[in-house]
Amino acid sequence: MRIYILSRNKELYSTKRLVQAAQERGWEARVIDYLKCSIEIMKDELKVNYLGKELPTPDAIIPRIGASRTFYGTAMVRHFEMMDVFSATGSLAIKRSRDKLRSLQILSKNGVDMPKTVFASNKSNAKDVIELSGGAPLVLKILEGTQGVGVVLVDSEKAAKSVLDAFYGMDVNLLVQEYIEEAGGADIRVFIVGGKIIGAMKRQGAEGDFRSNLHQGGSATAHKLTKKEKETALAAAKAMGLGICGVDMIQSNRGPLVMEVNSSPGLEGIEKSTKIDIAGKIMEYIAKNIDPKCKINPEK
Ligand code: ADP
Repeated sequence: MRIYILSRNKELYSTKRLVQAAQERGWEARVIDYLKCSIEIMKDELKVNYLGKELPTPDAIIPRIGASRTFYGTAMVRHFEMMDVFSATGSLAIKRSRDKLRSLQILSKNGVDMPKTVFASNKSNAKDVIELSGGAPLVLKILEGTQGVGVVLVDSEKAAKSVLDAFYGMDVNLLVQEYIEEAGGADIRVFIVGGKIIGAMKRQGAEGDFRSNLHQGGSATAHKLTKKEKETALAAAKAMGLGICGVDMIQSNRGPLVMEVNSSPGLEGIEKSTKIDIAGKIMEYIAKNIDPKCKINPEK
């Protein structure tokens, strides 16, 4: 079995753990920097070159595409898919998950609850947008932001209006969201592999921060999910069509609300807080999904 981990950095905890888990099973695992791949497209022929050499077709790929490289990364994933290689997360699902607005539209359509969200163009009137969102306090989110950057809490109507006017003036796309105060700066990350919950952790934001992202100084502990939390996380993963994902939810008075579904969830926080071998579960999922009949190259 040959698998490629499409990642830009060999040294990342997640990348290293995936390589290790594959090697423990006696598989060949290679980290491929997808930005260094080039693809060839001809009639009935698709090839990938890496550092100037043709890359042997693998049995499976695990995409770990950085948010700022979604276009190029998903193009590579799609190319492997077209070559009948199993991808642990599909290119289309990755692309959808990277757009906060599109994700919320899909989740809403599939009966998943979220904080009320308003999206309007920069030609709209800030006052109207604030009113539609239910008034201050409000959370503003830049559409292209990740890891908590570009997520702002504004606690008065006046502040909301000036921040909105400033963002609209700069032609920034933003979501305006109801603030869920009772979440208390904590969120729940549910790790899902192949439609099954593998582990969950609760992340608490740094003192005084309403954002729980570990990149913003938050801390993580293992979390025992309620029935409703399990149902919500599974429904969100299914709606987004992601084989491997991290569903982020906050606890509100009306139940769990989904923030986003992450298509390249980090392994470090979840493995360390839950002591679960998540990388191993990912390998089991891949093994289960590879149909030996689909192998293109008989030498593998
Ligand atoms: P990112 O994609 O940048 O991580 P999120 O939308 O997940 O942005 O927001 C980051 C964190 O901020 C969340 O994990 C949550 O802790 C907090 N947060 C986001 N939106 C809300 C909200 N509407 N109400 C309360 N807390 C929120």
